[in-house]
Amino acid sequence: MTRGRIGVLALQGDFREHLAVLTGLGADAVPVRRPRELAAVDGLVIPGGESTVMDKLSRIFDLRDPLRERIADGLPVYGTCAGLIMLADRVLDALPDQQTLGGLDVQVRRNAFGTQVDSFETDLEVPMLEGPPVHAVFIRAPVVTEVGPAAEAVATLDDGRVVAVRQGNLLGTSFHPEITGETRFHEHFLRVVAAA
Ligand code: GLN
Repeated sequence: MTRGRIGVLALQGDFREHLAVLTGLGADAVPVRRPRELAAVDGLVIPGGESTVMDKLSRIFDLRDPLRERIADGLPVYGTCAGLIMLADRVLDALPDQQTLGGLDVQVRRNAFGTQVDSFETDLEVPMLEGPPVHAVFIRAPVVTEVGPAAEAVATLDDGRVVAVRQGNLLGTSFHPEITGETRFHEHFLRVVAAA
């Protein structure tokens, strides 16, 4: 399961946690901050953090266009939380000048759980993963408010709200497996990269 080099977008956010999970799984995982680093990876993780800042930095670091091109070319990408927002084609409650990279035919709402329950934890059934439910941690998390025909929901809360989606080689979760010792999403992602 170590075929291919995995980049973690390291402009902002919890990229170190993703690098640690991937390295722990035996992957060749490297931070990505420059176009030439992006060009050298076979898969990319976009971490949690702050999508508005990540968006700005991606433009400052001249990564926005190369990222969009590689996503359009089929690069496997896994986004958690802010990373899911970056992958969404449509965003509610974005800042006025905020852009995403896009790729997932979904609409997400930023900070969807409001101030009262900004952060919470719950156990989620994720049929695409074998084994017990996923213990999911949501931190100022987005929710998927619309799943377009090209995308597929892969996890929902008890009330039906969608919190994980995939589409081709793209995967996005509202929550943060990288901080709870949950490795199955990353293992799944490494298989997607190996097959791509
Ligand atoms: N609220 C953040 C955003 O809009 C996401 C939070 C997170 O990644 N934990 O980008």
